[in-house]
Parts: sequence; structure tokens; C-alpha cells
Amino acid sequence: MTKIEIPPDHPRRVSLETREAIIDGHEKDIVATAGLLAHGRGEAFDYLIGESTPSFAEEAMRAAVAAMLSAKHPVISVNGNICSLVPHELVELSQITGAPLEINLFYYRKEREDAILKALRDAGADEVLGTHDRPSDTIPELSSNRRKVDPDGIGAADVVLVPLEDGDRTEALKKVGKFVITIDLNPMSRTAVHADVTVVDNVVRAMPRMVQLAREMQSLPVKDLERIRRDFDNRANRRSALTHMIAHLEEQVRLAMQIGESS
Ligand code: ATP
Repeated sequence: MTKIEIPPDHPRRVSLETREAIIDGHEKDIVATAGLLAHGRGEAFDYLIGESTPSFAEEAMRAAVAAMLSAKHPVISVNGNICSLVPHELVELSQITGAPLEINLFYYRKEREDAILKALRDAGADEVLGTHDRPSDTIPELSSNRRKVDPDGIGAADVVLVPLEDGDRTEALKKVGKFVITIDLNPMSRTAVHADVTVVDNVVRAMPRMVQLAREMQSLPVKDLERIRRDFDNRANRRSALTHMIAHLEEQVRLAMQIGESS
């Protein structure tokens, strides 16, 4: 692959490096072609939150980590995009919270499963669920490949972290009684709407921060963790995300007017 050189002082360096990681993941079979488009949609929403982590996202991350740490059987669902962007953080969060990693692919190909499994193993994962050689159960009301779940993973889970999930599956997971946590830059996606905790932030910022929070919060008593989870209001949090985006756009309008006046 021809890797582009991104100057260290480039104002959008992190965004370009993230894009390179997704392209690299695509070339290695980790990311599906549709995953490139999903990433582009995410980039657009990242612009709207100012490409940094707002306070409402931090609050959602605390609730997400509290829910994972206080769960009986938490699980982290892994797709190609999340695996190519933050493989080490997936493994670390899994180890700290005791949530196994489960591969779950919309566009299934054996090559993709193998590539994702290798990337997770290279990042330090021991056990990975959801592979073709494991038993599988199905989630009712879903027709795609994603109806398959590992009976020792999502099948048995009470809390599921589904970063970058599609809306159908989130709704199906809710219908079978799972507490769903997602990380999604689009606060209007069906996933964002239906999840119990929606972290409106880029996974490249949110996952390292969630690992840090998990380290800090793992010694909290379960009743404190449960309180943090209970006190979190996902509807109000999504409203804050939308209001934040509107304020950001209004600021851009103000700046554009100033440029107009001075030219
Ligand atoms: P839904 O089916 O939930 O209504 P969708 O059709 O947009 O949403 P997909 O295209 O399957 O769903 O998923 C892509 C989602 O992931 C988008 O909402 C996009 O904003 C988000 N996304 C993409 N890249 C990132 C990222 N790096 N961090 C966080 N969110 C991201």
C-alpha cells in the first residue's frame, strides 16, 4: 500500500491518520467496502461536534463503563471498523471489564473473520468468540448474518457494547432484553436512538478514554456503579449532543458572517 505522509503539524492530522487506518484495514480484509462509507458518515458528524470529546460524551462513557463493570455477563461486539481503529483498546477494555470479545459481521467472509481474529490476537486477545468453529444461536427477527450470536457471548449477555452498530441489530438486541451500549457519532441513527447508553463521540477518542475510566472505576462498589448507570438519562444526553451540534453550526454561521464583513 502507498502510505501517505501526513505532516506532524497538519491541522487535521488525527482525522487523516484515522482514515489511513480504515483504508489499511480494508486492504487487509478487516474492513468491508461498506465500512469505508460508514466511516465517511462518521467523519461528517465528527466535524459537527468539533472533533473533540464534549462533556455529555464523557458522562455517557462513565455510565457505559459503570454498566459494563456492574454487569453479570458483559460482552463486546467487534466488527471490521472498530477492529481496524482500536484493536488494543478493545482487548484492554475486555480484560478490565471481563467482557469477552465477539466477532459479528454483517458482510461475512471467512477471510474477514480470519483477518479480524488475527488483528485481535496480535493486539493481545486470548479468547475470541463468534468465530465459525464455535456454536451459534440466533436472535429472532433478524434475517442477516448478524442474527447469529455466540451462546457463550451475546447469547448469554446482560450488557452488550456494540460500537458502530446498525440499527436493526440494536433494536433486535433490545427486544431480547439486552442492555445496549453504543458509540456512534450520529445521535440521530436508529442505533443511537434505541441504545440504553449512546456515547456520541469518535471511537478513536472514546475507546482509550473508556479504558482509562474502567481502570479508575473498577474498584468502586457495585452499588455505586449501579447508581451511576441508573442516574444516566440517554434521552437527555442525546438532546445535549444535538444542541451542541446546533451551537457549533451557529458559531460557524457567525464566523462566516465576520469573514463576509471583512472581505
Ligand atoms: P442506523 O442503522 O443505526 O440508523 P446507519 O445506517 O448510519 O445507522 P451504519 O452505516 O451501519 O448505520 O453505521 C455507521 C454509523 O457509525 C454511523 O452512524 C456513523 O456516524 C458511525 N460512525 C462511523 N465511524 C465512526 C467512528 N469512527 N466513531 C463513532 N461513530 C462512527
